Amino acid sequence: MITLALSKGRIFDETLPMLAAAGIEVLEDPDKSRKLILPTNRADLRVVLVRASDVPTYVEYGGADIGVAGKDSLIEHGGHGLYQPLDLQIAKCRVSVAVPRDFDYAHAVRQGARLRVATKYTHIAREFFARKGVHVDLVKLYGSMELAPLTGMADAIVDLVSTGNTLRANNLVEVEHIMDISSQLIVNQAALRLKQAAMRPLIDTFAAATAPVATV
Ligand code: AMP
Repeated sequence: MITLALSKGRIFDETLPMLAAAGIEVLEDPDKSRKLILPTNRADLRVVLVRASDVPTYVEYGGADIGVAGKDSLIEHGGHGLYQPLDLQIAKCRVSVAVPRDFDYAHAVRQGARLRVATKYTHIAREFFARKGVHVDLVKLYGSMELAPLTGMADAIVDLVSTGNTLRANNLVEVEHIMDISSQLIVNQAALRLKQAAMRPLIDTFAAATAPVATV
């Protein structure tokens, strides 16, 4: 049995067509079912649904053999013990710094001000501001980062941005683009050795679905 870890939302939705291309179907809709283990049409493959930030941990400790994780979650996790064979080019977005529209970020940085930054992505934020030489106090949050500057709890946030609609709706503007994000295939190294015969074809399925279509 191979266990594939996915998170609900964009990663699940964008992984399904990759599996479907190899004739693999997930037999329950996670939006309609409360089940955390979903069967597929293949007796030797099941899907487990976990929080996006927990996918690397499940794969590291063998709760899942293989998983799809955002680069953001992987960097925060550290990536230890994981084989990362493929960038799947799905669930693309970016990690950015955003501030309230009326906050002069460039001026604050020039002045050497100490900024309070709210984020779920403390590793990415710490590394980014350290490289830039900006002093920050990081406030760890687990969601709704946009609220922190609106309530005066932080000067800035570091968060995922896709269309920018969430920032705009909350009167925030993007002032730094830290990095581009996409989802990676991650594999438990022991599972790859012990379940070679079943794991290789599954990794190849993802590779085939990721490869750019050849044009003649
Ligand atoms: P948007 O309004 O399209 O810029 O999306 C921003 C909101 O969606 C933020 O709350 C993000 O945390 C979340 N988000 C955007 N892209 C992703 C992604 N690829 N994976 C997970 N969450 C995302």
